[in-house]
Amino acid sequence: MFQKFFSWFKGFFRKEKPFKYIFIEDVPDDFKKKIVYVVGESGFSWQLVMLCPCGCGAVLYMNLIEEEFPCWSFTFNKKKQISIHPSINRFVGCKSHFFLKEGRVIWA
Ligand SMILES: [Zn+2]
Repeated sequence: MFQKFFSWFKGFFRKEKPFKYIFIEDVPDDFKKKIVYVVGESGFSWQLVMLCPCGCGAVLYMNLIEEEFPCWSFTFNKKKQISIHPSINRFVGCKSHFFLKEGRVIWA
């Protein structure tokens, strides 16, 4: 718990650019860092796509459809900073496990 707080604290003072989100209809071919792509159409979103924040270059896909498992949800604040629930845990590759809270990565 202390470590989590500490990494958040460090990020806060480093003034790291927070993650922002954009709504798109199709998954792009090219992904930019610090962007969470919300894939959907006519007000219905079914997937979040983002680059792994560890820098390994992997593209992470998160399902938003409740009937499917696993499923994530997201919220955003007035500054367009996105939070994703629950945490994102990769079982392959870099095995990153992190939370995205108000645009900031909190390593688990
Ligand atoms: Zn990674």
